[in-house]
Amino acid sequence: MSSSRRWEQTSSTRTSRALVDIVKRLPRIWADRSRARQLAAGLVVDPGEVPVAPDALLASWVRDACATPHRRPGTPEGARAEDWVAARFREMGLADVALDPIPIPVWQARRGTLTVGGQAVPCFPVIHTAFTATGGLTAPLAWVGTGTAGDFARTDVAGRIVVADVPFPRMPTGLLMRGLKACYHLSDPGGQIGLSTTQHLNFVRQNFIGGVASAEEATERDVYWQAVRRGAVGLCLILRDQPGNSNTHYGPYDGILKPVPALWIGCEDGHELRRQARAGVQATMVLEGSVEPGVMHNVWGVLPGMSDEVILVTSHHDSPFQGAVEDASGMAQVLAQAWAWSQVPRERRPRTMVFVIDAGHFHGSQGAHGFARTHADLMARARILITLEHLGGKEVAGTDDGYVETGRPAFTVMFTSSEPTTIASVIRAMTTFPPLRTAAIPSDLLAPVPTSDASGYVAESGVPVISWIGCPYYLLDEHDTLDRLDFSQLRPIARTVTELVRIHMALP
Ligand SMILES: [Zn+2]
Repeated sequence: MSSSRRWEQTSSTRTSRALVDIVKRLPRIWADRSRARQLAAGLVVDPGEVPVAPDALLASWVRDACATPHRRPGTPEGARAEDWVAARFREMGLADVALDPIPIPVWQARRGTLTVGGQAVPCFPVIHTAFTATGGLTAPLAWVGTGTAGDFARTDVAGRIVVADVPFPRMPTGLLMRGLKACYHLSDPGGQIGLSTTQHLNFVRQNFIGGVASAEEATERDVYWQAVRRGAVGLCLILRDQPGNSNTHYGPYDGILKPVPALWIGCEDGHELRRQARAGVQATMVLEGSVEPGVMHNVWGVLPGMSDEVILVTSHHDSPFQGAVEDASGMAQVLAQAWAWSQVPRERRPRTMVFVIDAGHFHGSQGAHGFARTHADLMARARILITLEHLGGKEVAGTDDGYVETGRPAFTVMFTSSEPTTIASVIRAMTTFPPLRTAAIPSDLLAPVPTSDASGYVAESGVPVISWIGCPYYLLDEHDTLDRLDFSQLRPIARTVTELVRIHMALP
């Protein structure tokens, strides 16, 4: 049995275990849902008009945000995005617009290459890993499968370049949401979620999750740190389950500088590399770049209401590449709420709104954590956190050399915390203005906190949360371009979010 086959079994065992955990929770989810449905019908909403930003304005925000090839934390491109957000907040008349600085090391690669048997292998640097000496390093390859203890026991990797598969879990979206009804509400007006609908979660590198700063802290399953512990001089990591042979995977984005250089390899390009690694062929890898001290900023502003209770609306400005969906789309939705509510008289805003477009989602979510820590007083007054990310993206499937659009919108979830009124607000807004292919799920269904930029706020403060987010396959790679976004959806999405805010303005 090949080690990758064995992994698939291990991995499906793990997926089954996760499913069993969810099944055990179903009665509670269904009970919460039926109680919230009754509450939803009785919610009182201010009947007055709230304007919805016109299509052209929403589209112009997305295009302006995408004017640079990336918005990486601490770079000039990142700083431009911060200034751009602040300018939009100011022109909408928000009060106390501020840029809170957060110092970070700015890691930038100039060059990453892999040469095996005289042939260049397409690759992309694993961010925040060590640089090679100029000219690179040459060593024999060593294949370790997915890097289980057994794989490493069979192969001496000291002084070698480790080649390994990095798998993603597959979420049985249709079974969970339509079959088991493991959600508070499913909005699918086109009937586009079937029982067999599934999706790889490509932000979950199962054997290289990230967030670990040393081999001692790492689990046995962590292929990167296990290779480091055993003296490997470099790693080539094959994105086994990433559709489209894409290798420009920008992760893990934990902001932790790591001691050994590593490169990502696309799944199709990985086939030949696996054979060469099994044969112990010599390879040369080059990873050149710099790490300099830098700074990124959380950008935020206030729209005062009739009380100092806060409705917090957030997204993040940083992005690995052009980032039309991740997260120009989220920024546009935050701006849409600032634009809309700044035109409503203060008397019709019982609560204060605080808009944050934070920094360093791609640097350990330090912006979100930092904001919640720095502004603990504000977080204590926050009645609800609404985080908006990756909304309006088109779904794609992979081919051998790229992506192809399926004609459907990318599936999105609203991580919703379990307070009955929070669930009721989501059901009410999703019923009044139904979004496409969206499931409201418990905020802790996949992890203790939402797997989104809301995690930092929730982890630091325990604030009730509605975190609306999609996860199309191109999210972390260079193919997150303007043509991936369905611009016609920006306005309907803004309208659903406005309805959510209206409900939270009026809650007792
Ligand atoms: Zn995002």
